Amino acid sequence: MADIPVDITPKEPPVAAPPTDLKPERDWYVHEWMLLAFAAGMMLLIYFVAQHETEFGHAEIVRDAAVVEQSITRRLETDQQFFDRLALDVGAERISSEEFDRIAGKHAIESGYITDVLRIEPDLDVMRHAPGARSLEIVKRARAPFAEQVWMMGLTEKTGRSTYSRPFRNDVGRYSIEYSAPVIINDQFQGSINALIQFDELLDRSAPDWAARKYRIVISDTSGQGMTNAEAMHIESGVVKHTVPLSLPWRDLQITLVGAKPSTLLPNLTLSTAVLALTGLMVWTLIGLRKQQRMRLQAETERDRLYVKSIGDLRTTKERFEKVLDSLDVSVYVSDLYKNEVLYLNTSAQEAFPYLAVGKSASDLEDGFDTSPSSKYPPNALLTIEGEPGDVFKDELEHRASHRWFVLRTRAVRWVDGRVARLTTLADITERIHADRIRQTQQDKLTRTSRLMTVGEIASTLAHEINQPLAAIANYVSGCIQRLKGNGSPDMAVIGAMEKADAQVVRAGAIIGRVREFVRTREPQRQPLDINALLRDVVQLVESDDEERALTCMLQLAPGLPLVFADRIMIEQVIVNFLRNAREAMQHLPPRKRIAKVRTRRLDAHLCAVEVLDSGTGITPDAVTQLFSPFFSTKADGMGMGLNICRSLIEYHEGNLTFEQNTPVGAIFRFTLPFDDAVDG
Ligand code: ADP
Repeated sequence: MADIPVDITPKEPPVAAPPTDLKPERDWYVHEWMLLAFAAGMMLLIYFVAQHETEFGHAEIVRDAAVVEQSITRRLETDQQFFDRLALDVGAERISSEEFDRIAGKHAIESGYITDVLRIEPDLDVMRHAPGARSLEIVKRARAPFAEQVWMMGLTEKTGRSTYSRPFRNDVGRYSIEYSAPVIINDQFQGSINALIQFDELLDRSAPDWAARKYRIVISDTSGQGMTNAEAMHIESGVVKHTVPLSLPWRDLQITLVGAKPSTLLPNLTLSTAVLALTGLMVWTLIGLRKQQRMRLQAETERDRLYVKSIGDLRTTKERFEKVLDSLDVSVYVSDLYKNEVLYLNTSAQEAFPYLAVGKSASDLEDGFDTSPSSKYPPNALLTIEGEPGDVFKDELEHRASHRWFVLRTRAVRWVDGRVARLTTLADITERIHADRIRQTQQDKLTRTSRLMTVGEIASTLAHEINQPLAAIANYVSGCIQRLKGNGSPDMAVIGAMEKADAQVVRAGAIIGRVREFVRTREPQRQPLDINALLRDVVQLVESDDEERALTCMLQLAPGLPLVFADRIMIEQVIVNFLRNAREAMQHLPPRKRIAKVRTRRLDAHLCAVEVLDSGTGITPDAVTQLFSPFFSTKADGMGMGLNICRSLIEYHEGNLTFEQNTPVGAIFRFTLPFDDAVDG
């Protein structure tokens, strides 16, 4: 089994039932007994056909034997009549010796199988023989054995009737028979007329041609002794034979026809052969089929076994697989590519998107992404499975509905049930994106800070340079005022104007001094600091009983704060600026009521907050948007640079400067600072 697909659909039963196509079909099966029965049936059929053929052949040979027997008998009967008549004629002395020779010789020659006709004396002497071609000596040797001659002579004398000798084999090796017809002269037995008949010739002449071609014809005595010259007369198997009696006077012989399977049976034979061949083919096919079935059955059994084993393996694999998937931080879900129905989702996906569930539409989630054609979100139609699995689409996308960012990877896969599905993983990268953004803004802020510092340096130089002319102006102005006052009748209006100019010069000097104080060029030196201790020190510097500058500070410091990592002087500047703003916002209050609260708080493991609360004028809606703009000030002598510089200093420390309205009146200014251990490097 190549690549067993792992079914990770949790809603399904853990182990699906084996697919039906795995079940072996055992509805029909070739058994050995079927083969045997079939073969036996066919054999029986062939046997019966063969039997029928044999019987059919037998009937034919019986018929043929009768025909052969009749034709031989008819021949012999003709001969018997001829010789009986000849004997009568000889006895009545109606023919001369010469005529005997002629008539008998002619008959013998014409017959073709009668070799000799003899006139035998009662004492067994041969008186005459015809045809006279052969010498008497040879003729005598061709005759029946002597005992037989005696027996024949005795019988013919006694009965006065013709007889045949026992079949014999003469000296020249021919099977013959001798016919003997008594010669009666004047009622006296006067020997006989004998004829020597050769069987093979007899058969040649008397048996019909077709029979001779079809059969081997054998004449024998009743004991079955072969009497034709076809000596080797053993009956082979596969032949038909039939024997009929050949009854001669005083002598019982028989004719046997031996034939090969008659040619008329050939078509039947062909049929049998065809049936046999077909049977063989059928059996061969069945055996093949059976072998194949057995192999299949074995394979199926093995497959069943493997299936059961693999089910076990699968279960383990599946559990492991699910455990791994469920322990992932990444959300994984699979949806039908066409119906967009969720087929599977892991625990992370369930937790991250509670509205997603198996069977529900994945659109609920996907619609949260920007799926417009211009977006980077790959629509289902783009996913193909040409290469297995399909190409991966990967991008960082914002889920607009939840304002979270994800690395979205999606691709088409072939799902366990064969359909094409979409496998999507979503890794939440919101934190990283946020961190990136903060880093980016901090980068921007740093740039701004360094720019401001450059500005500060310029301002410092400027202040230093302007201070000299300002001091000169102040001197000249006060000199002029002195001169005018020393005059007898001074113009008071000119003196007043001169004094105002002097005051403005002093103010200009103060502004320059303030700028110099703020933008003192120095390298920031961050180090671990006890922020609470720093606050206690700064507060002492700022607090004052002087009516004009009166301010009371209340400290609310969180105990046990870790050290912060900061530049002491910069943080002091920020606090001082906060407290001075607070005092100025409370300028309208009686000196004792000008109270500022200074608080520290731990925000989380990494950050602490420092807050300055006052009950002053609060921030007008107008001011809210411009508070950090350079040179924004609501004060007559305000420079409008303080908060701007403070924010840069705090952001340089990777903190935040914010403000809000205090209740019931006043403002809260706040900045955050990282703890020492939270700053790497
Ligand atoms: P300046 O103090 O020279 O005006 P700042 O940048 O320090 O410059 O302040 C800008 C403006 O913010 C102030 O003029 C004032 O209107 C407003 N402001 C600052 N702190 C407070 C406060 N604690 N209460 C009310 N308004 C404030």
